[in-house]
Amino acid sequence: MEVHAVNPLVAFAYLVAGVCFILALRGLSSPATSRAGNRYGMVGMAIAVVTTLVTHEVASLPEILVAIAIGAVIGLVTARKIQMTQMPQLVAAFHSLVGLAAVLVGVAAYLNPGAFGILEPGGLDILKGSRIEMGLGVAIGAITFSGSVIAFAKLNGNMSGAPILLPGRHALNLTALAAIVILVSLFHWDTPTLFWAIVALSFVIGFLLIIPIGGADMPVVVSMLNSYSGWAAAAMGFTLHNTAMIITGALVGSSGAILSYIMCRAMNRSFVSVIAGGFGADAGGASGGGAAKEQRPWKRGSAEDAAFLMKEAENVIVIPGYGMAVAQAQHALREMTDLLKEHGVGVKFAIHPVAGRMPGHMNVLLAEANVPYDDVFELEDINSEFAQADVAFIIGANDVVNPAAKTEKSSPIYGMPVFDVDKAKTIFFIKRSMGGQGYAGVDNDVFYMDQTMMLLADAKKMVEEINKALAD
Ligand code: NDP
Repeated sequence: MEVHAVNPLVAFAYLVAGVCFILALRGLSSPATSRAGNRYGMVGMAIAVVTTLVTHEVASLPEILVAIAIGAVIGLVTARKIQMTQMPQLVAAFHSLVGLAAVLVGVAAYLNPGAFGILEPGGLDILKGSRIEMGLGVAIGAITFSGSVIAFAKLNGNMSGAPILLPGRHALNLTALAAIVILVSLFHWDTPTLFWAIVALSFVIGFLLIIPIGGADMPVVVSMLNSYSGWAAAAMGFTLHNTAMIITGALVGSSGAILSYIMCRAMNRSFVSVIAGGFGADAGGASGGGAAKEQRPWKRGSAEDAAFLMKEAENVIVIPGYGMAVAQAQHALREMTDLLKEHGVGVKFAIHPVAGRMPGHMNVLLAEANVPYDDVFELEDINSEFAQADVAFIIGANDVVNPAAKTEKSSPIYGMPVFDVDKAKTIFFIKRSMGGQGYAGVDNDVFYMDQTMMLLADAKKMVEEINKALAD
């Protein structure tokens, strides 16, 4: 077996890059340290890229530099243009590119193994170990690519977010996955048919795994695809004998898997059913949440009502959701909490793990508006406090406060832990209309509760009016 000697200086540089990536992940685990985390990530990536370029024989440095420049401009323009609410589809698009890159590197290595140093010594055959690595890399890469394209289309509204359920899909998916595993293990025979069969079947399975997923389960899927993209990169790192790629891929793969596990727990879903695809999709579609809404009475409140009752309250719990992000109401909300605090009202923010459209979405927006971290609480830390709360102030959240998740077995969000807002003395519910539902598309009993006042308006406009009333 061929042994690839590694220059100790290169190994050291990659080690430093790897440590930077670990510090980046550590930093990104809290909003307070996330900026530093991002910087560590950038430094680590710069070290890895420069080391690779200066220590490897590259066919044409100018071409690579031009490609890097084009990629950097596209990345910069996209990052500047993208709205925070479009982040999930952007992340899905990036994952699809990582998957595609892994497939393309695998195909290049298969077609020209000599250039990658993976030929058996003195022979024309690809090393057996490299074939397995390559097979795994292209398989995971292709699954990541087609799965991420479907996730992008669903999140971006190019395709219905509703589950598409093929008959016998679990048996179909399991058979296709088993076939991929068998083909990869047989690939040490090195026949072109096997290689291309792995690529084609993996593209199909990525598609099949994601189309049945809908409702409120997309966050878990996005983080699963994140994990897959990491493993695809790690497998390709073996093919390319690049330690930095192996480290980075493994870090992304394992941190994505841990995030998926945390999200599964938050959503009360089983990890295995996510991998199998189509979990929670057997539920009765966009029903659940009680009787038809047009027949049920509800109360409309005003900004003045909200200002008056909150000023009198001892404690208020604010539950932000996707609508706050759409309206960009975080700065007005911060102002509202400052005004309430001036009146001696205790204000806390309750963040659900899947509020908004990406993990940490609400934390980022509140941090942008300089809401103190000490005022922000996770679901499990604050849920018991609703029973003592004078006011639950729901701003643009919906699924995460929907009691159907606790009671309606037919609801697509059944089983997901939600905030017990119904226990608060008064509920203010900001949304634009009685018609608009949450991401899962289900009606919400909270709209019709005795203690609920609906504040129907754009979230930012409504909070600005409340602030005016509070200041008066
Ligand atoms: P939802 O998507 O359930 O509800 C959003 C609410 O905001 C709706 O009631 C909508 O009603 C209202 N809204 C929209 N725009 C405005 C506006 N400008 N002003 C005021 N209100 C507005 O949000 P949640 O945060 O409660 O739940 C998140 C959902 O998204 C969950 O189901 C989760 O699974 C899913 N998801 C989460 C991801 C994540 O990683 N966090 C990723 C992908 C999906 P109206 O239209 O009437 O105004």
